[in-house]
Amino acid sequence: MIETETEKPSIFSLQFSTLEAWLKDHKEPKFRAGQIFDWLYKKRVTSFDEMTNLSKDLRESLSNDFRLTTLKTLTKQESKDGTIKFLFELSDGYSIETVVMRHDYGNSVCVTTQVGCRIGCTFCASTLGGLKRNLEAGEIVAQVLQAQRSLDEVGERVSSVVVMGIGEPFDNYEPLVSFLKTINDEKGLNIGARHITISTSGIIPKIYDFANEKLQINFAISLHAPTTEIRSKLMPINKAYSLDKLMEAVNYYTEKTGRRVTFEYGLFGGVNDQEEHAEQLADLIKGLKCHVNLIPVNDVVERNFVRTSRNQIFKFEKILKNRGVNVTIRREQGHDIDAACGQLRAKERKEETRG
Ligand code: SF4
Repeated sequence: MIETETEKPSIFSLQFSTLEAWLKDHKEPKFRAGQIFDWLYKKRVTSFDEMTNLSKDLRESLSNDFRLTTLKTLTKQESKDGTIKFLFELSDGYSIETVVMRHDYGNSVCVTTQVGCRIGCTFCASTLGGLKRNLEAGEIVAQVLQAQRSLDEVGERVSSVVVMGIGEPFDNYEPLVSFLKTINDEKGLNIGARHITISTSGIIPKIYDFANEKLQINFAISLHAPTTEIRSKLMPINKAYSLDKLMEAVNYYTEKTGRRVTFEYGLFGGVNDQEEHAEQLADLIKGLKCHVNLIPVNDVVERNFVRTSRNQIFKFEKILKNRGVNVTIRREQGHDIDAACGQLRAKERKEETRG
C-alpha cells in the first residue's frame, strides 16, 4: 500500500470563480484570475515561476497554497492507428492511464477519475485491486493538459473528452463536476459541452443530481444487459440500484435536460449477445430518447469472457434496427496496444509485483 502524502491542493482543482475569491482574500485584483488561467490553460506552463506578469509575492503565495500538478509519464504507447496510451504517475506514486484517440473529426481524450474502482463489474480488469483513492479535480484536468502538451508537439488540439477511463465518475462526484466545469470554461480548456461525454455504471441518486446540474454534456449509461438477472451477473451494482429504478432515473434525466442518453452495451459471447437479448433490450428502452452503442469487448482472461463474433454483432444490431432503435457499433482503436480499460495498468502492476 502506498502512503498518501498530505499535500497542497492542485491549482487545477480551482474553478475560475474560486480563484477570483482566493485572489480577493490575498488583496489582489480580480483580473489576475484571467492572467493565471491564461498561463495554466493557454500557455500550459509547468511552474508558477514562469508566470512572469505576476509579482514575485503573488507567485510565492500561489506556490505556498497550491501545487502545479504535472503528471510524470511512465509509459507512452502509440498505436498504428494513432491512438496514444499514457501511463502517468501521481505525486503519491499511484499510476493512472489516459488514452488519446485520433479520429477524422478531431482528437478525443479518455480520462480516469479514480485510482482503481470499487464497483466490481465482472468484466473489468480495473476493479481487480479495488479502489485505492479518488482523484482530485486537478488530477483529472492534468490528464487532459498532458494529452494536449503531447498534441502540441504535432500542432493538434484536444477536441473532445470522454470520462470513460478507470473509475466510476459518480463515485467521485464533486471533483468530477468541478473538472467538467473547468474544461468547459472558455477561460480554461474551452472544450464545448457537446464535445464532453461522461459514462456511469448507474449510481442512481447521482443521475438525479447530474440531471439537475443542467450541463449540456453527453451522458452515457453502461447498461450491458437487457434483464435484471443478466445485469446482476455482470454488474453487482445492479443489486444496489435495480434496473427498473435505473430506467426511471434515465427517464427523469431525458425529461429534465431534453437530451438523449447513450446506452453502452458490451457484447459478451453467450452471455448477453443472443437474438432474444436484442429483443429484450429493445423492449427495455422502448419510448426512451436514446441511442445504443454496441461494444465488441476484448477477451478478459482473468474473468473467462470471450469476444462475440462479428457475424453475431451484426445480427444483434439488425434486430435493434428493425425494432426502430438508434444503434451503432463502436469502432475499436488501439488494438495493437493495450487499449481496453484497465489492461495497461493491470499489466504494469503485475510487472511491479514480479519486479
Ligand atoms: S467498468 Fe468502470 S465502473 Fe465497472 S468496475 Fe470497471 S472502472 Fe469500475
